[in-house]
Amino acid sequence: MDLSEYKGVFIYAQETDGKISPISLELLGKAKELAANLEEKKVTAVLLGYHVSGLTDELAEYGADRVIVVDDPALEEYTSEPYAHALASVIDTYKPEILLIGATAIGRDLGPRVSARVHTGLTADCTGLEIGDYPLTAVPGHEADQKHGQLLMTRPAFGGNTIATIACPNFRPQMATVRPGVMKKAEPKPGAKAEVVNYNPGFEKNNCWVEILKVVKEVSKAADIQDAKILVSGGRGVGSKENFSILQDLADALHGTVACSRAAVDAGWMPKELQVGQTGKTVRPNVYFAIGISGAIQHVAGMEESGLIIAINNDPNAPIFDTADYGIVGDLNQVVPLLTKKIKAALA
Ligand code: FAD
Repeated sequence: MDLSEYKGVFIYAQETDGKISPISLELLGKAKELAANLEEKKVTAVLLGYHVSGLTDELAEYGADRVIVVDDPALEEYTSEPYAHALASVIDTYKPEILLIGATAIGRDLGPRVSARVHTGLTADCTGLEIGDYPLTAVPGHEADQKHGQLLMTRPAFGGNTIATIACPNFRPQMATVRPGVMKKAEPKPGAKAEVVNYNPGFEKNNCWVEILKVVKEVSKAADIQDAKILVSGGRGVGSKENFSILQDLADALHGTVACSRAAVDAGWMPKELQVGQTGKTVRPNVYFAIGISGAIQHVAGMEESGLIIAINNDPNAPIFDTADYGIVGDLNQVVPLLTKKIKAALA
């Protein structure tokens, strides 16, 4: 593999139901930042789907200099084989140095398949990406040397107890799937245009081809906690499903949304889609209330980027107070209703 042939930062632009997924716009923001530190500054979005050509301008507004479009009936609904074939073929033809994919259900299926086909490595579920030097300490005779301009991919490891930084120095592209909600979207530039390249990888049905007979969508009643500006999050300390109503009252008073820790999900009190943390969602609200939540590293990983963190806990030594901007030591059953009453009175 001649690594010097591989240039530019690419992202996979995920389209679902005629819309670009928010994670793809987040990836464009990060890709722009990474490309600024490389020789080839162009950012390319790879858009796969059917009747998707109308989405290229949105990708341009969020930072794509070029969009490679594969528009084909074979890509109408996501299935592994045609999507993996299309993306692997784009890589073989356009040779990106870096390829970023959202760690969505689709991205987690697509990324590893594609990396295996093009024979490179992939770091899954990254929470940090930067261009830097990779030390060759393990290579005999080169212990003091470094490879420059490598993609350093950071992700939690060993159940979130440590953070690993991984590089892929000998193969290209350097591939990563990235957790939704972690990277920031760039400010959109209305009216920006990208170079659009239509690409046809040629589709041939093989024995891995799956036919979709029917798509049944889950109808969710819960608000998306990743969109909320104010989150009122509860943990095991809330004590029961019913008692989450006091958090709901506080959320209602602030026009906020209720979220929770994994302990509350495991206890069957709250649905998984409201879980914040390493195996839940990464959130960045303006205000995050952590109520009856101890502050385990796996929870904090999903909320530490919040604008203002307010913790309520009856244990003055709870680790959550190390992350919080404001802490209230007390019984949540007393503190939360009192807070709600005061806020309602102040806003009345
Ligand atoms: P606890 O740790 O039991 O804390 C309850 C807190 O409530 C305590 O601090 C206590 O002092 C306080 N409290 C009790 N009663 C009251 C009261 N009346 N008033 C005020 N305070 C009170 N966790 C997540 O949240 N999200 C994840 O995505 C996640 N992913 C994980 C992934 C892995 C691989 C692993 C191993 C773990 C993961 N966890 C995750 C679990 C995590 O390690 C913790 O177990 C979990 O966050 C604890 O939830 P908690 O803070 O609600 O409960």
